[in-house]
Amino acid sequence: MIKKRILVTGGAGFIGSHLCERLLHDGNEVISLDNYFTGDKQNIVYLLDNPYFEAVRHDVTIPYYVEVDEIYNLACPASPIHYQFDAIQTVKTSVIGAINMLGLAKRIKAKILQASTSEVYGDPFVHPQTEDYWGNVNPIGIRSCYDEGKRCAETLFMDYHRMNNVDIKIIRIFNTYGPRMHPHDGRVVSNFIIQALKNEDITIFGDGKQTRSFQYVGDLIEGMLKMMETDSSFVGPVNIGNPHEFTMLELAEKVIELTGSKSKLVFCPLPSDDPKQRKPDISLAKSKLHWEPTVQLQEGLKKTIDYFKGIV
Ligand code: NAD
Ligand code: UDP
Repeated sequence: MIKKRILVTGGAGFIGSHLCERLLHDGNEVISLDNYFTGDKQNIVYLLDNPYFEAVRHDVTIPYYVEVDEIYNLACPASPIHYQFDAIQTVKTSVIGAINMLGLAKRIKAKILQASTSEVYGDPFVHPQTEDYWGNVNPIGIRSCYDEGKRCAETLFMDYHRMNNVDIKIIRIFNTYGPRMHPHDGRVVSNFIIQALKNEDITIFGDGKQTRSFQYVGDLIEGMLKMMETDSSFVGPVNIGNPHEFTMLELAEKVIELTGSKSKLVFCPLPSDDPKQRKPDISLAKSKLHWEPTVQLQEGLKKTIDYFKGIV
């Protein structure tokens, strides 16, 4: 029995493809909407045989009309290299994309979830980050197209909720990794794994003492679904991330150990506005969603390394 018809924008991306797979597995009908800027048909090709899956090439900055029960709005390049490639398009995707999807949700009375980000906290002074922290974001820097675009999208979600009673959900996703990460998107986990597998130098930006808290993609998908299932009185925002914090040096050492690599560390300039620390406070997710991550770094890295062994 088909349960729901669900639209996933950014469905051919890293996270979107895992989400589509899971929603189909749970018996839903799924439409992926993607312009393939950073996504890849390879990520969803194995789903195309499923009669309940549809892949639509479309840009979210252009209105789209469809009848669905739920919308997951993930369309947006997520890695610094990709979102800075065409910064203006990144802002348009976040802001106009949110307006278009919220307008659709309003018209068809669908529930809509926004994939927001820990980047709304910028280079945070509050550590770990709680949802009530307003953040420390540079509005004019090279990360601003992404950070401010995502902040504005959150504003739009809240305003459509307050003004039009749209059934919204906002999750703030912290650094996520796993199979199907784009091999050239420059994110730290994929970079280090690929470099280690090729015995090339591992590029540490800055002194490597900056921290991130890495979440395995399977845990994120579980959190997303749980958030979507909550009743309309809970809109978020809610942090979805793994609170175990690592320095980039620790991550590099772990990757070298797990791959048995001969790679050496090299130190490169730190990109501007690179946050010094990031770690989610997930008390809200624990209490409201009864969710917490179950895959820790060692186990998640092994799965991700196995994936990259097959493609590099
Ligand atoms: P990704 O780049 O793999 O996926 C984004 C997808 O959106 C791609 O398939 C891309 O082609 C598509 N897209 C981009 N612009 C579009 C447009 N204008 N119209 C239609 N499709 C468009 O990135 P991801 O890591 O899978 O991220 C998915 C979402 O999760 C993003 O919104 C991102 O901001 C958010 N997020 C990700 C992370 C993370 O660590 N991966 C952290 C925080 C938030
Ligand atoms: N980083 C690094 N080497 C790399 C790529 C990234 O040291 O080859 C650092 C980067 O400067 C940042 C952290 O790793 O401090 C996470 O970077 P990523 O681009 O994965 O995510 P974000 O900065 O958006 O959290």
